[in-house]
Formats: sequence, C-alpha cells, structure tokens
Amino acid sequence: MNRVDVTVIGGGPVGLFAAFYAGLRGMSVRIVDSLPELGGQLTALYPEKYVYDMPGFPKVLARDLARDMIEQGTQFGPETVLGDTATALTQDDEGWTLATAKGASCPTRTVIIAAGVGAFQPTKIGVAREDEFVDRGVYYGVRHRDLFAGKNLIVVGGGDSAMDWCLSLEPIARSVTLVHRRDQFRAHEDTVEKVKRSSVAMRLWCEVKELLGENSITGVVVENNQTNERETLPADAVVVNIGFKSSLGPMLQWGLEIVKNQIVTDALYRTNLPGVFAVGDVCSFDGKLKLIATGVGEAATAVCLAKTLLDPAAKMFPGHSSDRDH
Ligand SMILES: Cc1cc2nc3c(=O)[nH]c(=O)nc-3n(C[C@H](O)[C@H](O)[C@H](O)COP(=O)(O)OP(=O)(O)OC[C@H]3O[C@@H](n4cnc5c(N)ncnc54)[C@H](O)[C@@H]3O)c2cc1C
Repeated sequence: MNRVDVTVIGGGPVGLFAAFYAGLRGMSVRIVDSLPELGGQLTALYPEKYVYDMPGFPKVLARDLARDMIEQGTQFGPETVLGDTATALTQDDEGWTLATAKGASCPTRTVIIAAGVGAFQPTKIGVAREDEFVDRGVYYGVRHRDLFAGKNLIVVGGGDSAMDWCLSLEPIARSVTLVHRRDQFRAHEDTVEKVKRSSVAMRLWCEVKELLGENSITGVVVENNQTNERETLPADAVVVNIGFKSSLGPMLQWGLEIVKNQIVTDALYRTNLPGVFAVGDVCSFDGKLKLIATGVGEAATAVCLAKTLLDPAAKMFPGHSSDRDH
C-alpha cells in the first residue's frame, strides 16, 4: 500500500468528517474500519432513531445522517479498508505503519484515531461450528441481497435490522423464518406489524442451538427456551442480527496514554505519540462531550494541525469552505 498523509482509524461520523476535512485540505486519506460499512454507531447501533442535535437539522434519522456523512466524507475519494481491524501501530522513518487483522500494512504520515468505543464486531449466536460457516451460510448482516435469492433463510434477532431484513428478503427468498428468543421486539411497531402480515414464519421464544450441514448449511436446530422443545428447520443461510460488541482491544498496547478506555489528548487532540491524534468518543480531555457536534469540530482541528505538521508553510486556519470555486 502507498503511504498516505493521514490514516483515519474509524469510519463513524467523526472519522468521516476527518476524512472530508483532510480531503478539503488536499491531503491523501485512508479510512480503516472493522465494520463492512461506514457510519459507526449511527449505522450499527441506532439507524432508526431520530437525532435532534445536528446543526441545521431540526430532526434527522440516524440512517439518513450516516448516508449524508458518508457522501460528504468520501467525496475526495479516500481509500477505504473496511471489514478489517487496526491491530498494531509502529513508528517508522516517515511516520507510522498500521497493521490490520487481515494482514494489510498501511504506511501513513499521520494518524487520526476516531475509534469511538472501539472496534465493532457483530455479536455471534454462540453455537458450535458458527465460525466454520461464516460467509458460507452464516452472515452478520446483508451486504449483497442477491446472495439470498431462492434460499431458505433463518433471520435471528428482534430489532429493526432483523425485521428490516425479513421484509427486504421475503420477496426474493424461498422462505424466511424469524427466530427470536423472546416474544417482544425492539423494532418499530409498524415494522413488526408488516412482518406479521407477511409470509415470514416466526419462531418466538426460540434460539438457534445447532447448525447442520457439511460444506454449507442445510438446516438449523432451534430450541424453545420455555418448553425446551427442539425443531429442525431447513435452511441455506442464517442472517444474524443480535447487535455488536466493541472493544479498544489491541489499541491498548500501542503505547497511548489511556484512562478509562479513552485516549488522553491535549487541547489540540494530540496524543502522547507524535503525529497521532485522537478525536470523537475515543478521546478524553477536560470538558469532553461525547457528541457528534463536538466530535466533528475536534476532527477539523486535528486535521488542520496534521496539515501543518506535514507542510510547515500551510496555515492552521483552513479558510472558509464557502470560498471554494465550485
Ligand atoms: C443509542 C444512541 C443514541 C445516540 N444519540 C445521539 C444524538 O442524538 N446526538 C449525538 O450527538 N450523539 C448521539 N449518540 C452518540 C454518537 O453516536 C457518538 O458520539 C458518535 O457516534 C461518535 O462518533 P465516532 O466517529 O467518534 O465513533 P463511532 O461512531 O463509535 O465510530 C467508531 C468506528 O471506529 C471503528 N473502530 C474502532 N476501533 C477500530 C479499530 N481498531 N480498527 C478499525 N476500526 C475501528 C468502529 O468499528 C466504528 O465504526 C448516540 C449514541 C447511541 C448509542
């Protein structure tokens, strides 16, 4: 991989704004995120909630805010490394080299850590052979709808994502069965009603206990947690939507000053490592607010400071974006 001016660890709202601002300042950018899609907490944790404290938006759905922040954050064409976790950071002659869990080596001149509450990983159902079937029958979310055409699908979960995928895949799948461990849903009532009116079968108070098949999944065994009765359901694919876990994980070993799972910075969002900044939910300083509105300001400041590190002739003040030619 080529050396970029700035590597942004985390493609949440704050990392996206850092990528946008770095592009605005003519810097080359790489975004690394452990999730397969950008958007951070907005996308992973609360896509269906309204956000009321974005300047200029009296009310905006988190999913829509993420979509627009992704459009803004990627408009200068940053390189994106998605579905991969930053695991190691090593100083070299020209800055830093970031290593990822999938073995990529990403050289960079500066680093902006916008890692939020840590690398998100989907919660697993926790049954034997689950890892063996990942992407060969077990999927944590849906990236390509067409993959599920004509298949017998099991959707696990009771939140908005699970319900949305039931409705979205029902027209193309051979069958869809929702497996949920309770009879209450966290999803919007309206969506739940739509699922109930659809051809989606429901197994409530049920949990997946076994995955059946040789090279690919042919069925699942579900167990009713009230009666302990077991049932085998034919299945070609299991779509798991039961949330995410997050952890700062390997970042704790990078030599950063960390207090209570947050990276300590000074007032210019510099960490104790040269050329490494921390912004957004992951950083800690007196008066820190874990909000998007404040995080994006931190990102703009960190980017401008990184710019002056790389180009001492550059001014810290970026000028007004409204002064651009187009
Ligand atoms: C239910 C809920 C409602 C909220 N409502 C509001 C609201 O109304 N207004 C508001 O301002 N804020 C709200 N927040 C908080 C807001 O979402 C956060 O402040 C914001 O998401 C922080 O953005 P971020 O970019 O710093 O981090 P995040 O959004 O957490 O993104 C960090 C990204 O970094 C990635 N990452 C972390 N470590 C690594 C690694 N080692 N390698 C690769 N990738 C990594 C993660 O996978 C993640 O995608 C809410 C939060 C929740 C949970």
